[in-house]
Amino acid sequence: MHEATLAENILNIALEAAEQNHAAKVFKVGLTLGELAGVEVEALTLAFDVLKEDTPAKDAELVIKRVPISATCNKCGKTFQLEGYNFFCPECDGVLILQSGRELLVDFVDCE
Ligand SMILES: [Zn+2]
Repeated sequence: MHEATLAENILNIALEAAEQNHAAKVFKVGLTLGELAGVEVEALTLAFDVLKEDTPAKDAELVIKRVPISATCNKCGKTFQLEGYNFFCPECDGVLILQSGRELLVDFVDCE
């Protein structure tokens, strides 16, 4: 994952939203980020802070909601929250189906 490219995309979404709302300023940009999305939050924030300079989003804060990895077993039907993605059920060795953790989306843009 290229954090700089991602930051640019997020900034573009924020600026577009500001334009559509005839807003002069962007205050906050909400982001949902799964633990499996492979994004380094620190690098992303840093890139965003650099790119937002000289734009209506220069004071915008990135509000990041992390989504844990969860998966459901196809055999026993139990849902587990995982530290890292594991393909097999810890209880019955069934195959785990990923439910969440790959999310990467802009939730909201808070602007004036
Ligand atoms: Zn199971």
